[in-house]
Amino acid sequence: MATKTKDAAKIHTVVKYPDPVLAKVGAPVTVFDASLKKLVAEMFESMYAAQGIGLAAPQIGLSQQLTVIDTSFNKVAKDKLVLINPEIVETRGKQVEEEGCLSLPDIREKVQRAARVKVKAQNERGEWFEVEGEELLARALQHEIDHLNGVLFIDRISRLKRELVLRKIRKLQKNGEW
Ligand SMILES: [Zn+2]
Repeated sequence: MATKTKDAAKIHTVVKYPDPVLAKVGAPVTVFDASLKKLVAEMFESMYAAQGIGLAAPQIGLSQQLTVIDTSFNKVAKDKLVLINPEIVETRGKQVEEEGCLSLPDIREKVQRAARVKVKAQNERGEWFEVEGEELLARALQHEIDHLNGVLFIDRISRLKRELVLRKIRKLQKNGEW
């Protein structure tokens, strides 16, 4: 039963590798207005619709320094993170886990990342804040911030593994399945 009606946010299509926007460094966000808030809401809805825990603006075709993350997948309100113009300011340790990406559907590879990170970013109102993460959140922060710098997780695996991934993608493309 619905107790409240709300305008449905627009669901954006997630662009796939090798769309050139994924290889570009996003422009800094300088205007913190109502349309930015609307875009952030749309990004969360697009991320949930795609079953993701992170979505970066380049993945919806916008080359900007903006990403959203929710490792709880809409279960814990405080886990909803909006990171604008983010920067990793501290890293510690390392972790190696399997990673996937909405722009590389069905591709999963083990990627080495820092175990803990501290990130400085602006929120939707332009206020600076810091967030620290470990394990999955640390991984999501590094993965999404990489997107804002034109880097995909397949850029962080061995050349041999990357060639195998690219071969798989080419095959899928050929079959019209990518
Ligand atoms: Zn990704």
